[in-house]
Amino acid sequence: MTFAFTAVHQVSRPQGMPTAENFTFVEDGLPSLASGTALVENLYLSVDPYMRECMDGDWTMHGPLEGRSVGRVIDSRAPGLAIGDLVFHRQGWRTHAVVSAEEARVLPDLPGVPPSAFLSVLGGTGLSAYVALTRIAHLGPRENIFISAAAGGVGSSAGQFAQLLGADRVIGSTGSADKVRHLTETLGFDAAFNYRDGEVGALLAEAAPEGIDVYLDNVGGGHLEGAISAMRPNGRIAWCGAVAQYNSTEPPAAPRNLYDIVEKTIRLEGFLVRKYPHLQTELEEFAAPHIRSGRIVLDQTVTDGFHSIIDAFLGMLRGENTGKMLVRASD
Ligand code: NAP
Repeated sequence: MTFAFTAVHQVSRPQGMPTAENFTFVEDGLPSLASGTALVENLYLSVDPYMRECMDGDWTMHGPLEGRSVGRVIDSRAPGLAIGDLVFHRQGWRTHAVVSAEEARVLPDLPGVPPSAFLSVLGGTGLSAYVALTRIAHLGPRENIFISAAAGGVGSSAGQFAQLLGADRVIGSTGSADKVRHLTETLGFDAAFNYRDGEVGALLAEAAPEGIDVYLDNVGGGHLEGAISAMRPNGRIAWCGAVAQYNSTEPPAAPRNLYDIVEKTIRLEGFLVRKYPHLQTELEEFAAPHIRSGRIVLDQTVTDGFHSIIDAFLGMLRGENTGKMLVRASD
């Protein structure tokens, strides 16, 4: 007996910005559960910038794609996975998945914390922000921090975490006037600017005339150059991503001021969140009480229905999200 489900496959490699034609929906059947596995109905699916890089080679054509998901166990032959359990796993881009206990994490029951939070503030997105601030940049109280792609998933978590960690001024950049208002009026940023309004270095100098101590880089290129210019001596840069480059077919022209890192004794360190799973519980202990109290805003853009996943992914690359972009596949 098979169980019918729907998945998305990639059918061609993109040149520059991907399109819906790079993907197709596939109906398929899952075989009966083998011993040690469980059937999960995916409730929320995450779409992420790293997937754009996967499209260039890591993802196989005409096969299942990976992605972070939160789902409910609806049948089980796996010890440790009971029917009704809410689990996190990495078999995204499909309505249902078969997982073993090793491939799925049963999510803790945290009162006042909705399931979608485990893909946003308490997921790899929030963990990236937490690692960047506490382990890479070592943000100290009364320091100034600049965050790029600040109205996105990592950025909106980082801005709120920075305030809780006692930062003096939290400054963000984003791609529209509406998002600038969202940062200052809803998420508590002290200042924000639209990077499309001019040269990032000049806009940042205006937003942070006294300079910055920490930069969380989600964008790369001109943003990194501007942050190096604005940085005080002994500043730290946590390099998380370079979303400005993912769709580009040209090598980046900036930063042109890399040697200032020596002159100002700046520390620049890249990191991968997948090296920090041991901090997941620490993140939950730090953030869950603030989600419960409302001090941390669960900033998410959620599209409805599994078939919205391709539009959600392309929309996220175009900046149509505020906060973490998620797909609600099922209630
Ligand atoms: P996100 O910020 O929620 O979504 C991407 C955002 O990038 C868009 O909303 C858009 O916002 C912005 N963007 C798109 N093109 C841009 C451009 N040319 N210049 C400036 N901004 C642009 O995505 P996320 O998941 O939170 O990821 C943010 C960054 O962190 C990405 O670079 C990602 O690769 C990286 N990341 C790294 C790790 C790690 O382990 N190192 C883990 C997670 C994420 P605007 O409207 O503001 O342009």
